[in-house]
Amino acid sequence: MARKSSMAALALLVGLAALLVGGEWSVHRRANEYCGICARHINPQAGVIAEIGGVRHRVCCAHCAVTEGLQEHKPVRLIEVTDFSSGRKLDPSHAWYVDGSRIVACVHDMTRMNEMKHVEKTAFDRCSPGTFAFATRADADTFAAANGGTVLNLERMLAGVNAGEVKP
Ligand SMILES: [Zn+2]
Repeated sequence: MARKSSMAALALLVGLAALLVGGEWSVHRRANEYCGICARHINPQAGVIAEIGGVRHRVCCAHCAVTEGLQEHKPVRLIEVTDFSSGRKLDPSHAWYVDGSRIVACVHDMTRMNEMKHVEKTAFDRCSPGTFAFATRADADTFAAANGGTVLNLERMLAGVNAGEVKP
């Protein structure tokens, strides 16, 4: 009987500890969860740290940063990208990018189901189609073969937004 109650007490402690750790973790994560530009939830597989006009932001994907740079006429530099396959952080200059695929990683309210269960989409979405990063060209090719899109290196991916940038 004593053994049974101590087991129950232990289970309760473990449960409490899990709650505490879980709470800490979600508070910690929440601080980094939203895009600094469009305020959408950042998909952990697509998060990017970018400098737009010299100001650093955490953004939901590279496409959101590029759209911002184009709209604000500011150069975009990527500091860190996330491997869409593994969720690992990557050096942007060594990553490969798939632009224009059918995959939408950002959770947002511009796409919604109507009563007929058809997806309605607005004409312009700054994050769609997303631009996703991959550790290897082979991973990017595999993703593009399955989901559409164009495989680009960093220079080509940023060529449009940085075209007007005056080199010192
Ligand atoms: Zn965004």
